[in-house]
Amino acid sequence: MARGVYQALYPVYLVQEDRERHEFAVDLGAEPPVAADGAAVDRRYARRLTLHRLHQAIFRPKVLRAYESRCALCRLRHAPLLDAAHILPDHHRRGEPVVPNGLAMCKIHHAAYDANIIGIRPDRVVEVREDILIEIDGPMLRHGLQAMHESAIFVPRSHRDRPDPTRLEERYAEFRAAA
Ligand SMILES: [Zn+2]
Repeated sequence: MARGVYQALYPVYLVQEDRERHEFAVDLGAEPPVAADGAAVDRRYARRLTLHRLHQAIFRPKVLRAYESRCALCRLRHAPLLDAAHILPDHHRRGEPVVPNGLAMCKIHHAAYDANIIGIRPDRVVEVREDILIEIDGPMLRHGLQAMHESAIFVPRSHRDRPDPTRLEERYAEFRAAA
């Protein structure tokens, strides 16, 4: 078993049984789904919610595996320090938790990407925001951020796992607008 690939999820609730297919629908929430008036929530909704949570939960191990547990920017290879960053966010129409919408990043680079301190162009080259580039500070700023400017990101070997250029483009436009 590869370390950091599996993730335990608990507690879970069995919310639906499909006897013919010998399947259960599992809700990963802390509470069984109940509406405000105390009635059980629509089963189809519960199942959708369950699938959504399941997809979110397996996003990280899938992205980390595709990137060989390396930060796409600095190549750091310590899974506990890595995240699966979304290119387009979860609430976006195309923000699905799928590998082409993900990038393995260390905690610092993930936070910097989300804060538009760094941007990634559709040709997979990193840009560091202008004001950060001219700042003078210690080694984290110099080596961790400024040195990333105009470097190419590390991508998975498999083409289907590589970041989707159209999603990168849309996210990069947001970085440019914020800069
Ligand atoms: Zn990094």
